[in-house]
Amino acid sequence: MPTENYGVMIILSSPSGAGKTTLVKLLSKIKNFEISISHTTRSPRLNEKPNEDYYFVSEEKFKRLIQNEEFLEFAKVFDNYYGTSRTPVINKLDNGKNVLFDIDWQGADQIKNKKLDYKLITFFILPPSKEVLFQRLSNRDMRDKLIADERMKQFSRDVLHWINYDYVVINDNLEKCYTKIKKLINAEVNNESKDYDVNYIRSHIEKLTS
Ligand code: ADP
Ligand code: 5GP
Repeated sequence: MPTENYGVMIILSSPSGAGKTTLVKLLSKIKNFEISISHTTRSPRLNEKPNEDYYFVSEEKFKRLIQNEEFLEFAKVFDNYYGTSRTPVINKLDNGKNVLFDIDWQGADQIKNKKLDYKLITFFILPPSKEVLFQRLSNRDMRDKLIADERMKQFSRDVLHWINYDYVVINDNLEKCYTKIKKLINAEVNNESKDYDVNYIRSHIEKLTS
């Protein structure tokens, strides 16, 4: 059973562009919080640093890592493979570090189903509207507008997975969203009451999907 000496696993998932990577980076600045760096077969974006944002690897190398059972979870997302290596995550948790995961719903499901002996808190991040999401994707993926279009197409399918997460948080104002997540983590860890209104989230989902 987890004790207070072990770290907590914190997963952030979202439709692409809602802001989970930005939020994970902010949260990782809190003392004792560390990011799980994933492997991916996708090419780096202009601002991304190898071994910091991702371990960028060939498909051949990725498949070897699968065969060697190095991954805690892995999935194919938008035609590329993404995966979380098991050993660094377990070492961090055993050393009392809280580990942040920026992974999709398939990876979140896999980790949940493993029922590891560490506390797990899952967050699903939503954009304030589809218009804002498109704007964010277009700004980020400037090199290729097709990427933004493709990821928008996936939005209505991705958003349906909100139901499987502990908390859904709307990323309108970045600072407010960050503070909300931080408070929910603290409340979970300390077993305190949570400021969370699932009915408000339901009505936001209805707006996003109508
Ligand atoms: P995701 O990891 O969910 O795909 P990112 O964190 O890469 O999304 O964010 C997508 C884009 O939106 C980035 O350019 C990021 O700087 C921007 N962004 C994130 N959160 C906000 C926010 N609250 N307000 C405005 N822009 C944001
Ligand atoms: P991006 O290409 O925008 O960095 O990420 C695309 C999607 O892959 C996002 O939903 C992101 O959370 C997810 N992702 C990143 N790393 C992993 C991982 O290790 N495992 C899984 N399952 N998904 C990941």
